[in-house]
Amino acid sequence: MQQVAIIGAGTMGNGIAHVFAQGGFKVNLIDVSAPALEKALATIEKNLDRQLAKESITAEVKAQTLANLTTFTELAEGVKNTSLVVEAATENLSLKLKIFADLDRLAPADAILATNTSSISITQIAAATKRPAQVIGMHFMNPVPVMKLVEIINGYATDKSVTDKITELSRQLGKVPCVVNDYPGFVANRILMPMINEAIISLHEGVSGVAEIDTVMKLGMAHPMGPLQLADFIGLDVCLYIMRVLHEGLGNPKYAPCPLLVNMVNAGFLGVKSGEGFYKYQAGSKDLVVSPRFDS
Ligand code: NAD
Repeated sequence: MQQVAIIGAGTMGNGIAHVFAQGGFKVNLIDVSAPALEKALATIEKNLDRQLAKESITAEVKAQTLANLTTFTELAEGVKNTSLVVEAATENLSLKLKIFADLDRLAPADAILATNTSSISITQIAAATKRPAQVIGMHFMNPVPVMKLVEIINGYATDKSVTDKITELSRQLGKVPCVVNDYPGFVANRILMPMINEAIISLHEGVSGVAEIDTVMKLGMAHPMGPLQLADFIGLDVCLYIMRVLHEGLGNPKYAPCPLLVNMVNAGFLGVKSGEGFYKYQAGSKDLVVSPRFDS
């Protein structure tokens, strides 16, 4: 496996392209938006410079990594001659089904088609192709160059040889693979999101305040970040969306999203990306300030 294609050059796509290119693969990075591709290359270069400054890579590795990257706006051009495609486009079911139906026509017949989706069923995506045995989830974590985990998700029809190849490949990229089966939320979000939701329920019911809930989990459980701060970082809209996937897909009322989370998303308080969630964010400041709405 030498030639890979990454679809989507956003937050995740640029990180995935970075680790493959640094791992010695020829990478075709594909996005419908030319500015997104330009921004992705600039981000990769900035992140390589940070690694260089920390002496975790050499100048030669930086140059080789950048030389391994080619960008495309046309799917057909970008995926021909590839043995693996990793899709990291916008999280939207109909978009992913269309991309996989197109990939099935355009990518070589023996290519493995992987998706980085956080919440969409791998089995459903695979069913949009005529090669469901070659479709698999390859769920990287943000920021990709830093985070070690790759959650590998077997769809209902994924062939074991494909899982084995992707597991080995993840190790080759310096990551730690964990193989799981395709059920709503997989493992990472099935456990993380209810914990975040429970933290929001605790706040909503007045059990404790924002800073206290996060401090209990940081100092008591050795979590690097409290669940409310993490929710702000992930985006409250994304958290709500995944809770709804769990609630609908597993049919258990324990996954019902907290009404406070629903209200905050409806009001546009989405966390870091909108400037306010459980905390208030000011450009240029790293101080963690609880939103005045939750000041007790
Ligand atoms: P993003 O919005 O930052 O980037 C998505 C990119 O996809 C955009 O650049 C957009 O132009 C591009 N795109 C849209 N339609 C396309 C198409 N038809 N062909 C090619 N490119 C297309 O999104 P993101 O946060 O990088 O998320 C990408 C995927 O990764 C999603 O499936 C998401 O669930 C998953 N994911 C995200 C995170 C995270 O923390 N952000 C973590 C794990 C997994």
